[in-house]
Amino acid sequence: MRVCVLGAGIIGLASAYELNRAGHDVTVIDRALPGSGASGGNGAQLSYSYVQPLADPGIWAQLPKLLMSASSPLKIRPQLDVYQWRWALKFMAACNTAASRSTTAELLQLAEQSRMGLDAMMAAENLAIDHTKSGKLVLFAGTAAFAAAQKQLALQQKLGSVQEAVDAQRCIDIEPALANFQQHISGAVYTPGECAADCQKLCDGLHVLLTQRGVRFLLNTPIKHIKREARHIVAVTTTQGDVDADQYVLALGAASAPVGRHLGVDLPVYPLKGYSITLDVLDSQSGAKLSPTVSVTDSARKVVFARIGSRLRVAGMAELGGYNTEISHLQIASLQASTQTVFPGCSTFADLRPWAGLRPATPTARPIIGTHPNGPTNMFFNVGHGALGLTLAFGSAMRLARLLS
Ligand SMILES: Cc1cc2nc3c(=O)[nH]c(=O)nc-3n(C[C@H](O)[C@H](O)[C@H](O)COP(=O)(O)OP(=O)(O)OC[C@H]3O[C@@H](n4cnc5c(N)ncnc54)[C@H](O)[C@@H]3O)c2cc1C
Repeated sequence: MRVCVLGAGIIGLASAYELNRAGHDVTVIDRALPGSGASGGNGAQLSYSYVQPLADPGIWAQLPKLLMSASSPLKIRPQLDVYQWRWALKFMAACNTAASRSTTAELLQLAEQSRMGLDAMMAAENLAIDHTKSGKLVLFAGTAAFAAAQKQLALQQKLGSVQEAVDAQRCIDIEPALANFQQHISGAVYTPGECAADCQKLCDGLHVLLTQRGVRFLLNTPIKHIKREARHIVAVTTTQGDVDADQYVLALGAASAPVGRHLGVDLPVYPLKGYSITLDVLDSQSGAKLSPTVSVTDSARKVVFARIGSRLRVAGMAELGGYNTEISHLQIASLQASTQTVFPGCSTFADLRPWAGLRPATPTARPIIGTHPNGPTNMFFNVGHGALGLTLAFGSAMRLARLLS
């Protein structure tokens, strides 16, 4: 079948990979270059066990800070946008124990399929993407936060996750670069099976590989319009003319919802903006390890650290504030300050490589994969992966390819 994939972020590219493997004739269209949306500068974590949604009952206690504090890592910037308010209301409705648990169970399953999919792709293609089985430590600063994390750990252990609660000393044994931060750690959850990879290198590697296999890429080519006849897409109009296919896959990240509305499909996807910096690391000094090789999350600051090759990716913040991708220098300074607190001396900080991206978030954190009951019959969606697009890409792509085939 001729399949046209709209979007060359990690979701569109993983979809194109699985569709090409299934024998389809694939074209990929993007208004920019592969990975240049939310994918390229992301947190680099293959977070197979950390899939708990942001919509959790614990959010209610944080709400005043969320709305009031200038330094909160989670922010709501109210817009004159009915879709933002509707998203926020649906998000609040999902902040209950039952919804959080069932989403966790579903995402753990999809994440495991993704792990298998990415590992199989890596074994077959051997792409250079700085992939490591880094393990992950999630640090907690207070006893209440650590106790809540242990409850989640008990739930996840029942669902098959291999994780353990560890004390501050054991954290240092696992990641000696945390030595200077030991007094701020009440406890941590350690997940040895977590991985890290450079998502931009993965996007670039897939682009090169798929081009060699005959996939056609129309890059720097904005999609202007999608032509329909009744419930059937007949072509996608781009700045380079019309592209027609038998089936279409919509993987436009945060831009998916406005495009979906033109097709009569109400996708509950809204941007959650985040930031990252990427530092060249200094590894050790006088025998002391300065930079981590284990992925670390500082849960108090909601900042994640991942080692990719000789660089440290530091990412965080979640702003519900519309489609603006401007880089806030305050947020970048905050990421730098967090890094200097947790890993002092890990870099000269001479070049921060600041980046911002829009997570395509659904209120529940469940992605939308497949056709839509109100949508065109030959349009498949692969959208709404929120904070887990890299982690869930290959499981989602395999599911999509199965449905489409
Ligand atoms: C700060 C931050 C940290 C993150 N950390 C992690 C992490 O550690 N692990 C993890 O698993 N996930 C992480 N994520 C989430 C992950 O990056 C996203 O879920 C993922 O990138 C979404 O991929 P996508 O392909 O759906 O969207 P995108 O990467 O945004 O791709 C969509 C593409 O559509 C194109 N497009 C849009 N409109 C048009 C148009 N009209 N015409 C043509 N093309 C168009 C864009 O150019 C873009 O290339 C993070 C995200 C952020 C912002």
